[in-house]
Amino acid sequence: MTSPSPIFRFDNSYARELPGLYVAWEGTKVPSPEFVLFNRTLARELVLEDSLLETAEGAAILGGVRAPEGASPLAQVYAGHQFGGFSPQLGDGRALLIGEVIDRTGARRDIQLKGSGPTPFSRGGDGKAVIGPVLREYIIGEAMHALGIPTTRALAAVTTGETVYRDGPKPGAVLTRVAASHLRIGTFQFFAARGETDKLRRLADYAIARHDNDLAGTEDRYLKLFARVVERQASLVAKWILVGFVHGVMNTDNTTISGETIDYGPCAFIDAYDPATVFSSIDHGGRYAFGRQPAILQWNLARLAEALLALIEPDDLDKAVELASKELARFPELYGRHWLAGMRAKLGLQGEADEDKDLAEALLFLMRDQRVDYTLCFRRLSDAAAGARDGFRDLFTDLPAIDAWLARWRQRLQIANRPGEDVKAGMDAVNPIHIPRNHKVEEALSAAEDGDYAPVETLLEAVGSPFLERPHLAAYAEPAPASFGPYRTFCGT
Ligand code: AMP
Ligand code: MG
Repeated sequence: MTSPSPIFRFDNSYARELPGLYVAWEGTKVPSPEFVLFNRTLARELVLEDSLLETAEGAAILGGVRAPEGASPLAQVYAGHQFGGFSPQLGDGRALLIGEVIDRTGARRDIQLKGSGPTPFSRGGDGKAVIGPVLREYIIGEAMHALGIPTTRALAAVTTGETVYRDGPKPGAVLTRVAASHLRIGTFQFFAARGETDKLRRLADYAIARHDNDLAGTEDRYLKLFARVVERQASLVAKWILVGFVHGVMNTDNTTISGETIDYGPCAFIDAYDPATVFSSIDHGGRYAFGRQPAILQWNLARLAEALLALIEPDDLDKAVELASKELARFPELYGRHWLAGMRAKLGLQGEADEDKDLAEALLFLMRDQRVDYTLCFRRLSDAAAGARDGFRDLFTDLPAIDAWLARWRQRLQIANRPGEDVKAGMDAVNPIHIPRNHKVEEALSAAEDGDYAPVETLLEAVGSPFLERPHLAAYAEPAPASFGPYRTFCGT
């Protein structure tokens, strides 16, 4: 059933296999779609005809004006808990899945346009996106990918030539987003809440075929699917915490089945280490604060468990609850194990010692107490392994406390038996020098709003190789100047 296409070789399994679970739809005409960014590396990974895509025709396709050959554009329906309250009817209010391709590794990837105009799920919204948030999603997604964190990615950013009103007139834009799939916890919640068990089962079998094909046809496959999502998400959120990432809107419709990070809205990376850090202007209660993310993930997974109960044990609800609860209860331990393994690597520790968790937490405590930049702290610690402690110590104000910690760390490192340069190299391969620094992201986005995309390109160059120190990008490794003030990000725009 593959539809040949000169640009995309689509094979649209969602459209084909799940009738009744989406609405076929098309993008809105826009005056003059033009490329701002095009991700050639990703295009090659997706085996696209990039020479054909990087044309006016390609811009029209990725601007949502024209469906490419072989596409089956559709809007997916979903529900979701937003800030803890259930919304039974969400869905792609400004996005279209145009189709799926099989990438170079044989994996199926969704191609989605975000900002391509209103759909039946727009709930009064305009269905559009503007250049700032589109580029933010592009930059942060690429940064996460380069950091080795599962994520949706950006194939292109296209301006539409339209003026879109947010807090003033802004250039309209469309993001082309590539994902392992766009199945969310909220997709399951939609059909579960309506008691549409047949559709729920088709969806679950589709998810299994797509993400956990080894479970297809097995007994207990719905329980096992749940267990897999628990495992993937425990690993994912540990990776977020290890790099200091705050998602900002961890609603269940923004939590994937694939284990990829999705929907970069008011997200940001922490500067000074503080678990209470919140960036989103709408997260008044701090529900999605940096340090709360693992607990919130577990809460979201409980909502997935509820949605799957009718499939897990159709005739015995109590039994279904018992089985799903047991899988869910594994989350803290799974998360803790991923986190500690990651911390050991960040600290350059080999093997496992009982004191490791305590050693890591003691450093985090000092960082929080003395408001030390999280990213820089780990990066400079590696210099201390190689004998140059000053850069690291300079980050702290209470020197006796950090010296005591350093002595303890050096003892655990067994530095006498390992060349310091080797320890440093190992640490530098896991502790990034480049994250998308908030002030640099803002600087780049505001230049882009004025039509200057050079700062975005430079920022992408920095975060695209996050472990590689380069003199000409030194400014991109620095924390924000004090004058930048507390950072706020805005959602859904
Ligand atoms: P998000 O906060 O981006 O995860 O979006 C939450 C929901 O609101 C999703 O169902 C979106 O499709 C929808 N949405 C966000 N912005 C718009 C918009 N400008 N027009 C229509 N729907 C939107
Ligand atoms: Mg969303």
